[in-house]
Amino acid sequence: MDASTKTYVGEGPDSAGMFGRFGGAYMPETLMPALYELQRVFAQASADPLFWEEYHRILADYVGRPSPLTLAENLTAELGGARIWLKREDLNHTGAHKINNCTGQILLARRMGKRRVIAETGAGQHGVATATMCALFRMECVIYMGAEDMARQAPNVARMHMLGAEVRAVHSGTATLKDAMNEALRDWITNVDTTYYLLGTGAGPHPYPRLVRDFQRIIGIEAREQILRKAGRLPTALVACVGGGSNAIGLFHPFLADAGVRCFGVEAGGLGIASGQHAASLEAGRPGVLHGNLTYLLQDEDGQVSNAYSVSAGLDYPGVGPEHALLHESGRVRYVAISDAEAIAAYYWVTRREGILPALESAHALAYVRHLAPTMRAEEEIVVCLSGRGDKDMDSVLKYQEEQA
Ligand SMILES: *Cc1c(COP(=O)(O)O)cnc(C)c1O
Repeated sequence: MDASTKTYVGEGPDSAGMFGRFGGAYMPETLMPALYELQRVFAQASADPLFWEEYHRILADYVGRPSPLTLAENLTAELGGARIWLKREDLNHTGAHKINNCTGQILLARRMGKRRVIAETGAGQHGVATATMCALFRMECVIYMGAEDMARQAPNVARMHMLGAEVRAVHSGTATLKDAMNEALRDWITNVDTTYYLLGTGAGPHPYPRLVRDFQRIIGIEAREQILRKAGRLPTALVACVGGGSNAIGLFHPFLADAGVRCFGVEAGGLGIASGQHAASLEAGRPGVLHGNLTYLLQDEDGQVSNAYSVSAGLDYPGVGPEHALLHESGRVRYVAISDAEAIAAYYWVTRREGILPALESAHALAYVRHLAPTMRAEEEIVVCLSGRGDKDMDSVLKYQEEQA
């Protein structure tokens, strides 16, 4: 590891899309012109104040930002350590952080003159957010979703249909997020002239990890300003769940240069790391290439990508965004795993104590807070990203309880 890696505080990626040795664009030749065009349009839009003005206007008037930073008084009192603040992405229109990214990318799609939008989805939240923005911008919308996930997240499938999107079931592989992403990339290769690929997390080929991060940074930018106003100081710790890593990088990034702010990324530990049934790519994976970028991946001895598993559809991905791979190796962010059982317990805990149903994904972050807060002092602040609302997960939670009984 060289010195620049050790001090990485979010200044990447370079012009080739590399975060240290991670990232890049390992894609078929046929897609390279489309990726270069996207890089060019994004660079142009990024430098255009009118682009950001429209992005912020949609976030304010349509999405409902800024999202509140709520002091969780009951959780704080019970754990008896640091004060716990919830960054309420669950209160955004469509119920999760995904719409921040969709807002930015639909503006890029329009700028590029595309009328057809495709996306992959796991829990369905990204599919719903994409279908929503496509309705608003009158664009054709096709969502790829694993058949397994369609069964787990039926209400979100119905919502996408209601919004006028076509949902295409993917039966290959484990019929989950990874396979849906493969299918979306296949569609893009075929229809690249007419189609914008609206990728849902901070992974994939350059420039996606960069642009998704920049559209999700609003989470951390707001949280920073809110905690300074409400607590009069920076937090000592940030906690967010990590699927592909977009809500986590969005929260962490504006704080990375603040050495006193510790960051914790929480991966899905499933049935436990030792069981092999999990989605903890950073804790238990190795570097490899998937979906166009070099990053930490779950893989077998031959380097084949292994199947990820989590009770939570949104975390069920064998890879992770390349910037997290660098933040992991540099030690700037610590990655930990939380099991299905702990996440389910945290789901009930936060629902009963605070009157807020957290998404099962977010429940992983909240479960880690139960370990972390008691080790800290009352004069310290923890900000947790409550990445989405948990109504969509009620069936999964009840089914889990029945299976345990
Ligand atoms: C999709 C999703 C996640 C995981 O995705 P990231 O890109 O890691 O943020 C987490 N929480 C919710 C509510 C989601 O919908």
